[in-house]
Amino acid sequence: MTTAAELFALQETDLATDSTVTGLAEVEAQLGETEELVSARELVDQSRERAKEIQRRQKEMDLDAEEVREKTAVIEGKLYGGSVKNPKELEDFQADLTSLQTQLGKREDSLLEVMLELDDAEAALKEAEVALARIEDSWKAEQASLSDTQATLKEELAELQAERSRQLDGMDRASLSLYEILRERRQSTAVAVVERGLCQGCRISLPMSIIQKARAGAGLVQCVSCERILLVN
Ligand SMILES: [Zn+2]
Repeated sequence: MTTAAELFALQETDLATDSTVTGLAEVEAQLGETEELVSARELVDQSRERAKEIQRRQKEMDLDAEEVREKTAVIEGKLYGGSVKNPKELEDFQADLTSLQTQLGKREDSLLEVMLELDDAEAALKEAEVALARIEDSWKAEQASLSDTQATLKEELAELQAERSRQLDGMDRASLSLYEILRERRQSTAVAVVERGLCQGCRISLPMSIIQKARAGAGLVQCVSCERILLVN
């Protein structure tokens, strides 16, 4: 025969199992990369791309300016080299030189702007990298602690399962099926303790005869209101 006390002990195991399973699911939901980590990494990638793009532009502009500088040097050579004597020709070279110098000035101004833009982009990249490193550090620590908790909960669950099978040993089928039905129907508590004449499952005041019957322990006695199996200590 299975007693209310035995079923109550089984219920304690089942309630502990339920809460361990819930805890384990919560921990497992938190394992893996967080949104914060993913977006911090994306920001680093974007910042790096932006800096690279500006560097490419700077390089092109550098080459461009160099080309104008070379042309300027050629014209200067002709103008001041003494080989050209014709005043009209010299006048044309002078005009070319002025135009090239204007072009070069503009290109050098743009180049300076791009260099400043690159400084900003590199500072932003550095900042994003520092933020990512900080987020990664705390994420790693958190994941390690979650893994520890997961392992502990799994161990607890295995112990509870072993305990449950020990408790089931020798229980009769009818009592167990009553327990399971009530557990499902009554939010996981199939067994209620009686305290000061009250069923602790539904708070109803129980008739004396029921309490005496439950105390005698001749068989399982159920609450007249909530039907839970009564345990009188
Ligand atoms: Zn009750």
